[in-house]
Amino acid sequence: MKNIKSIKKSYHSIFMVTFIVLANTLFVNAQSKTSLVDHFTDKGYSNAVGTTQHPAGEYYKGVTYVAYQGPLEDPYVAAYDHATKKWIGPFKAGVSLLGKNPDKKNDNHGKPALIIDDEGYIHVVFGGHGGLDSHGENTLGNTHLGKMIHVVSKKPLDISSWEVLENIPPFGTYNQLVKMDNGDIYLFYRHGAHRSNWVYQKSTDNARSFDAPVSVLKTKRRSDNLAVDAWYGWFEKAANNKIIAGYNYHHCKDEDDNHDGERHNGYYMVMDTKNHKWYNVQGKKLTVPVTKEHADKMTLVVDTGDSWTVRGTAALDKNGNPHVTYTVGEHLGLIHGGPKQIQHFRWTGKNWTDGVCANLPVATGDMDLSVSGKISLLLASKTKDKKGEISWYHSKDDGVSFQKGTTLLRRKKMGFTISSMIRNAHPDAQAIVMGKVGNSDYGKMYLLGDNGPVQREKSEANQLTAAEKAQPKKSKKSK
Ligand code: ZN
Repeated sequence: MKNIKSIKKSYHSIFMVTFIVLANTLFVNAQSKTSLVDHFTDKGYSNAVGTTQHPAGEYYKGVTYVAYQGPLEDPYVAAYDHATKKWIGPFKAGVSLLGKNPDKKNDNHGKPALIIDDEGYIHVVFGGHGGLDSHGENTLGNTHLGKMIHVVSKKPLDISSWEVLENIPPFGTYNQLVKMDNGDIYLFYRHGAHRSNWVYQKSTDNARSFDAPVSVLKTKRRSDNLAVDAWYGWFEKAANNKIIAGYNYHHCKDEDDNHDGERHNGYYMVMDTKNHKWYNVQGKKLTVPVTKEHADKMTLVVDTGDSWTVRGTAALDKNGNPHVTYTVGEHLGLIHGGPKQIQHFRWTGKNWTDGVCANLPVATGDMDLSVSGKISLLLASKTKDKKGEISWYHSKDDGVSFQKGTTLLRRKKMGFTISSMIRNAHPDAQAIVMGKVGNSDYGKMYLLGDNGPVQREKSEANQLTAAEKAQPKKSKKSK
């Protein structure tokens, strides 16, 4: 009996060992065949990237650094080394005041913007949606939620540890960083909630300190006393020490309940950073902060009438002429208006084109004018059969018509949001995209370039826990 038992036992052991070895071999084989995935993390959270808070990424000395909104609306940073094809991170770069109340809807205004200073330190600004009354008096506007926070990497080009720099006001929303060729860094933002001036602060010491805010777009009560003039702006470095701005107008009504996002028109202006004066497209000097009346007279790109707009982005072409985009659509009785088609406007040297460009979809995105004679838009849109996609659209006739180019990413039933173009982008890594599917606040983050997504080992990229996967969507909750 004993012998038979021990023989049985040893057979059993041999069988088990063989099974484990075989299973491991199969597993390893399967893994090595399918181990690369298109996303670099599956822990993007809610509205993880957008075009407003920018740049969200920068290519610097062989590495692309990317920032996005992660769990609890905190800012996360990851890095991709193009030579070794290795991903680093993501690491949490700071803690936002937003996103911490489990009973409230996601806020999504505090997405991170990232810039690398001349000493290689990485700066991230995030977390703002106007600041709180408890932060004190906002002399340039009103307050709402969150706190604009500035963090910097503890060591140059090392995203693993961060510290807070207490050198910016808490009241900002729509943080945007602009770095000039001489190393000066400008932080642009709306100084509070809707009814706040848009401002910039300049730093000449690698963002260790900033000059006081300077207002560039003015909020004020309208003469009809029914609403307040407010703005949405987008600011970017351009050639010859210029900072260009594309913006649109928010008719900010007094009702707090169901406050709608009525926005119209498109505007453009430019600052010469040598003298900090602002000019319109014809080179006429502007009075800043620019009021609605002054903007209508001096900086108007398009009067959209009853149609609603969202500001897009801006760039200068090789001849120094500005191009701006806005998305335009009908109101349709919806709180933020109906679907908006992207429209491209170009200054011909004499006038703005009419923005009526054939073949452009309902989309968001940014543009690339680096190839002479070609206008390229990188857009996140949805196909008629409900596939989300990120595609190039090119124009070779100065924006009269666009042809769809390469599709960098396409997914069935997935909705995409896209960042502005990555600063100094490597061709393989030009924009950061979030893709969401189903009923979850979590989504996959992609880094996209000419070769499609920059891939990552599945075991590294899949970071979401089962508990996180099961979390109900917060966007269904009350605001
Ligand atoms: Zn408003």
